[in-house]
Amino acid sequence: MSVVPELEVKPLAPPEPQLDGDHERMAHIVLEGFQPDEGDYVPAGPSVVEGIVNGTPVRALCGKVWVPGRDPQKYPLCPTCKEIAGHLGWSVPSS
Ligand SMILES: [Zn+2]
Repeated sequence: MSVVPELEVKPLAPPEPQLDGDHERMAHIVLEGFQPDEGDYVPAGPSVVEGIVNGTPVRALCGKVWVPGRDPQKYPLCPTCKEIAGHLGWSVPSS
C-alpha cells in the first residue's frame, strides 16, 4: 500500500512584467509566418500588429513572449534573435 501525499495546489499569480529587463529594451524578431516556395503564406502565430491591437502575446525567435505595445525601432536588435535568424538564413536588418 502506497501513501499519496496531499498536495496543496495554489493558482499561480501572473508574473509581474519586468519592465526594466534587458529584453524589454531590445527589438525582437517575431516569426509571424512564412511564404513557402510553392503554396500560400503560412501564418505561424499572432503578428506584432495583432499583438498591439488585441493585446495578444507574441513569441520572439529567442523564446521571449510579450505583448508588443511600443515602437521597437528605437531599440537595438536582440542578439539571440539575430543569431537564430542568421542560422535560418534570414536577412537581418543591421542596426
Ligand atoms: Zn529576442
